[in-house]
Formats: sequence, structure tokens, C-alpha cells
Amino acid sequence: MARIKLLDEQLANQIAAGEVVERPSSVVKELVENAIDAGSTTIDVTIEEGGLTFIRVVDNGDGIEQEDMLTAFERHATSKIAASSDLFRIASLGFRGEALPSIAAVSRVECISSVEQSGLAQRIVIEGGKLLANEPCNAPKGTSITVRDLFFNTPARLKYMKTVQTELGHISDYMNRIALAHPGIAITLKHNGNVLLRTLGSGDRLQVIAAIYGTSAAKMMLPIDGSDPDYELIGYISKPELTRANRNGITIIVNGRYIKSISCNNALLEGYHTLLPIHRFPLAVLEIQMHPALLDVNVHPSKLEVRFSKEQELKALIQSAVRDKLGNVRYTPGLDALK
Ligand code: ADP
Ligand code: MG
Repeated sequence: MARIKLLDEQLANQIAAGEVVERPSSVVKELVENAIDAGSTTIDVTIEEGGLTFIRVVDNGDGIEQEDMLTAFERHATSKIAASSDLFRIASLGFRGEALPSIAAVSRVECISSVEQSGLAQRIVIEGGKLLANEPCNAPKGTSITVRDLFFNTPARLKYMKTVQTELGHISDYMNRIALAHPGIAITLKHNGNVLLRTLGSGDRLQVIAAIYGTSAAKMMLPIDGSDPDYELIGYISKPELTRANRNGITIIVNGRYIKSISCNNALLEGYHTLLPIHRFPLAVLEIQMHPALLDVNVHPSKLEVRFSKEQELKALIQSAVRDKLGNVRYTPGLDALK
């Protein structure tokens, strides 16, 4: 008798969720990136108890067609790529079609979405992968997704969650970086009724830096830019007097995506050369644009890691842009304004 069987869809989604949805901040990340991909100009994120009990992301983007609502929650269902050649020119933040089914497999989800101003919308409710409602309702254009009781049906994962403060820290860190990446989007983050972040969506990145790190830090930032045949670089770096004890103040953005890159970090630090005090690190926001073909984002489901095909050129560009800017700046030691 055959003993090998295909997993049923609910179980397959729950297994995939283990990779895609590690903790509340992964849910926030996936929902916010969907909102950005939908062309939103405002994104409001409301969470309670570090996102463990309640996460709501409301956007004013394109919305989901009524007839697409169920499909959006199916595994490998995406509107963002269609052919394997698309994998080599990904312009959107999402493309794997895994986030919504994964989230819905391990929480109680309500999604309300409308593609038109008329107010006609569709509402879908899924709990632990089971469809409970799919019905018309009224709502403004855009999408609102509410995720309650994350991991309620996966006790092993729930037990692994840290304190509210730790989970909130991860969410807040992600929101700060995505706001830095998208100064043209008005973003708010509220936790237990308190506003933790509010950006205006004016397009001015320095304003976002001020909202996150304070106005005195923003005043210590220097604009940088540079380009070579493959890459465009813009951003802000702190004067050498403004440093921190760790690298968390460095944000690297590639084609609108916040990423972690040891090589870009190192290139930045090498640009400062001997200007940084020992064991101190700058504040910096570097935004790099390149043809999507030069970038492989399909390294890990979280897409935080990427591979560059011309990494040495990119490092050289970052290093020289930083060095050129700092060449004109005089260093005043002992003014470490940020701890
Ligand atoms: P992916 O982002 O990889 O395509 P998701 O599971 O995150 O996969 O989303 C599935 C699909 O649902 C998306 O391709 C998109 O068409 C639609 N969708 C999800 N969230 C939104 C949103 N906030 N606004 C508009 N469409 C959305
Ligand atoms: Mg997505």
C-alpha cells in the first residue's frame, strides 16, 4: 500500500508559515510590504501587546478585486509575477504568494478590501486556515487586514515568543526602516493606543530621520550620492561626531527593500576610515537603485538577505561616496551625541 501522500492544503500552509511567519514583526512586514506594492500613500499600523493579540494594517492602495479575495489567501497565489523570467526582474517587494495563506494558517484574519471609491468592498474571515466568511460590505478604497491571536493554533511557536517589549522592539525597528526606505508614504505605528512613529509622506527623508532619531541627530546628517554604470546611490550619513555603540543605526535600502548586508555595512565603515572612534558606528541611510537583474532577492523567504551580482563595484561606490563627502568635513572628537 502506498504510504506517501500529498499534505492537505491547510497543513502545507501551516508548515510554510513556520518559515514566513516567525514572530509578530514578520506579519507586520508582510502586510506593510503588500500595502507598498499596492501603491499606497498612507499606511497605518495598529498593534496591541507587541502584536501577539492584535495587528491591523490599513492602506489606501489599489485594493483586491472581489473575485480575487479567496485566491489571495491561497498558497503560491500572486498578482506580481507570472513567468519564471519575471524572477530576474522583480520590481515588487512580494512575489512568492506565501504571506497571506501562511498568516491565515496560524491566526484569525479579517481582510476588508475595495478597489473603488464607491464604498463597495469585500470582507473575508479565515481562522486557522478555515474560511468563516466571504461577503460584500462597505469600506473605503484600499485594504485593511486584521490579524488576531497569532499562533493560537501552534502552541509550540507561541511558547517561543518573547516579552511584549521584545516583540514590539522588532516591529518598531522594522517600521522605522521601512519609513526610511519610503519617505513618500505617510506611515503611522500605534501600540496599545500610543503613537510610536508618524511620518508625513512628504518625500523628505531627513524629516523621517528626524522623526526616528530626533531633530538634533537629523542636523548632524550629511547628504551623499554617487553613481556608476550599474548603481545609483543616495542617502544620509552622520558626521563622525555622531556615533552609536552598535550598527543598528545603519539602514541599507535596495530597490525600495530594506535589507541586511554585511558588505554594504563594511563599505560604509571603510568610507569613514579612521574618522570613527574605536567601537563606534555611524547613523546612515543608504538607498541603492539598480536594475533588478543585478539583484537576487530569492535567497530566503524573509527576503532580508539579497545577493548582488556586482558586489565589488557596489562596495567601491559606497566607500568612495562616503570618503568624498567626509573629506570636506572636519572632525571634532568627543561629541558623541547619540549613545
Ligand atoms: P505576494 O505579496 O508575494 O504576491 P501575498 O500572499 O502577500 O503574496 O499576497 C497575495 C496577493 O494578494 C498579492 O499578490 C496581491 O495581489 C494581493 N494583496 C495582498 N495584500 C494586498 C494589499 N494590501 N493591497 C492590494 N492587494 C493585496
Ligand atoms: Mg506579499
